[in-house]
Amino acid sequence: MTNSIILTTWAVLTFSVMTVGCNSQNQGATPPADESVSPPTTSSQPHESEEASAMSDKIEKTESEWQSQLTPEQFHVTREKGTEPAFTGKYWDHKGDGVYRCVCCGLELFSSDTKYKSGTGWPSFWQPVAKDHVEENRDTSYGMVRTELECSRCGAHLGHVFDDGPQPTGQRYCINSASLDFEAKESEKKDAERTSGE
Ligand SMILES: [Zn+2]
Repeated sequence: MTNSIILTTWAVLTFSVMTVGCNSQNQGATPPADESVSPPTTSSQPHESEEASAMSDKIEKTESEWQSQLTPEQFHVTREKGTEPAFTGKYWDHKGDGVYRCVCCGLELFSSDTKYKSGTGWPSFWQPVAKDHVEENRDTSYGMVRTELECSRCGAHLGHVFDDGPQPTGQRYCINSASLDFEAKESEKKDAERTSGE
C-alpha cells in the first residue's frame, strides 16, 4: 500500500520533471548562458560593489567556536582585546613578500609592501590593504585615548593606530602578531620549496 503510493508519487514527479525539461527545451532559441559564468557563492546579490559585499559578509561565531579554532594567545588577543608582549610575536621582525590576513576569518588586512621597522616590537604598517577591511574604534582603556583596530568582517581585535607613522600616510598601524596570518606570494613559496628541496 505504502509502496504503491511512493511509486505513484515518484512517477508523477518524474513525469513533471520531464515535462518541465521538454518545455524548456521547446523554448529553445535562447539557451541559458549564465549558469557557468558566476561561481555559486556570489550568485545571491547581483552586482553590488566588492566593498559592499565584503562588509555585508560579517562573520559571527560563539566564544567556544572561536576558542576551538584559535590558540589560547590568539583567542586572548583577538576576542578579548589582549596585547602580546613586545618583541615576542611571530611577525614583529618578519620579512618576506606577501599578505597578512586576519587569523580568525582570513580577510586580507595588510600587505608586506606597507610593513616597516617601527622599533616597537609589534608588526607595524603604514596602511591597511583596504580602508574598509579595518574598523576604527575609540578606546579609552588604561587612561589613554587611543584608536583601536578591528577586522571589519569578524570583529577580531588587531591593535591600535597612531599618527606617528612614516609617509606617505603618517599612520602607524601597530598590530599584534597573534591577530595575523602571513601568506607568502606564490613566487616566494616556490623559492622556499626549491631551497628546502636541496
Ligand atoms: Zn577577521
